Amino acid sequence: MNPATNQAIETFTPLTKDETLEAVKSADQAYQSWRHTSFKERKNAIAKFASLLRERKEEFAELITRDMGKRISESRQEIEFCAEIADFYAENAERFLADVPMEDVDADAYIHYEPIGVLMGVMPWNFPFYQVTRFAAPNIMAGNTVMVKHASNVPQCAEAIEKLFAECGLPDGVYTNLFIPSEFVDAIVSDSRVQGVSLTGSERAGAAVAALAGKNLKRSVLELGGNDPFIVLDDADIQQTVELAVKGRMVNAGQSCVASKRFILLESIADEFIEGFKEAMASMKMGDPMDEETTLAPLSTEGAAQKLQEQVQSTIDAGATVLLGGDRPDREGAYFNPTILTDVTPDMPTFDQELFGPVATVYVVKDETEAIELANRSSYGLGGSVYTRDKERGRKVAEQIETGMMFLNQPTSSQAELPFGGIKNSGYGRELSHLGILEFVNKKLIHLG
Ligand code: NAP
Repeated sequence: MNPATNQAIETFTPLTKDETLEAVKSADQAYQSWRHTSFKERKNAIAKFASLLRERKEEFAELITRDMGKRISESRQEIEFCAEIADFYAENAERFLADVPMEDVDADAYIHYEPIGVLMGVMPWNFPFYQVTRFAAPNIMAGNTVMVKHASNVPQCAEAIEKLFAECGLPDGVYTNLFIPSEFVDAIVSDSRVQGVSLTGSERAGAAVAALAGKNLKRSVLELGGNDPFIVLDDADIQQTVELAVKGRMVNAGQSCVASKRFILLESIADEFIEGFKEAMASMKMGDPMDEETTLAPLSTEGAAQKLQEQVQSTIDAGATVLLGGDRPDREGAYFNPTILTDVTPDMPTFDQELFGPVATVYVVKDETEAIELANRSSYGLGGSVYTRDKERGRKVAEQIETGMMFLNQPTSSQAELPFGGIKNSGYGRELSHLGILEFVNKKLIHLG
């Protein structure tokens, strides 16, 4: 479905259960030889993946935009970023997985990293190439084989990624796309040939897959939702902070796990910030995501827009004040107006929910202590950011926020070299950086006496 028009583009046929288990068998057979390949061979394939992404950027970017509605310029950035991630692991995997001598013992002992087997990835639609790349590139470089169940609304991207890996010279079964319903994930994770599962998605899906992993004693990594605080201290550069606030909230039409979602302002600068923020949010240009002039794209599906409307309406009904928007425009497609809500209190149903779209909640607090307390009053703990001209003051606040990632004077973002992941209900484990490649390897002790 194209969410900009709500029209169907193409129909795909899901696999049967038998076909799915056949795919597991192929992935396991592929693993038996892939695990013995050299880093050079793996590097050739993953570096080629990066270069083909760059070469055919426009083609893949258009697929992303048509599948899930992202602005075309953001789709291009996503493809470029995937190429960087693939290059990063192609270049560095051998170094990250080199033997580590044990220095604290009086013996010849070391840690030797080995692949563990077939891995299952369950991926979301919001960054359909990026999420798959950050899971597949390090794990294929480590010698594992991977299968991916992508989100049901991005089948064109799912299919294109599989074809692209095949074009890079990966043998059959090293990367497999599975067009399956989520109920089939159970049979895959329970299969003895599968050694781990990585899910990026909602808390609900994460809890279901973590339960499966636990029951079957499989390793798991969960990258779930977030409700990132954006904390503005009284010495921040307000004009610049407002620009960053809009960028942080409106990335991907607000549908990013690490989008800035809760704006926590010290009272002395609150009025100035709110005035600028409201003006900037109101000036967003809603339109066709393929049009370069558009600054606000539709949401990923009609269902997503309806769900957001329900969440916003229930918050308003519970007493929140609408500073901007609060509803959907009168036009075709899964669009939602830029929205700012204030007076959101902990007793409201959405206080601790992720609002996945162009909706900001604003809180005014009297001091830093109150800002920290409010920021930590969340069941999520993914990212967050602090704005101040005083680096030391910012560092102290950042260290007290209960999240997996904190940034100073910039919204949370992702980079191949930096670890990505959360705590609390935002999940566990890390992706990207050297940590990402260590999640699904055997850290084997070799003791030679
Ligand atoms: P979702 O509904 O949880 O879907 C994610 C994936 O899980 C899809 O492939 C989905 O399949 C599958 N799934 C759903 N229920 C399942 C179950 N019971 N068992 C197995 N698989 C299941 O999430 P989404 O709406 O696509 O993505 C948005 C969420 O992802 C947001 O909460 C966002 O914050 C989070 N996210 C987190 C990160 C991060 O790195 N922390 C990054 C991006 C997004 P179907 O499509 O077939 O239902």
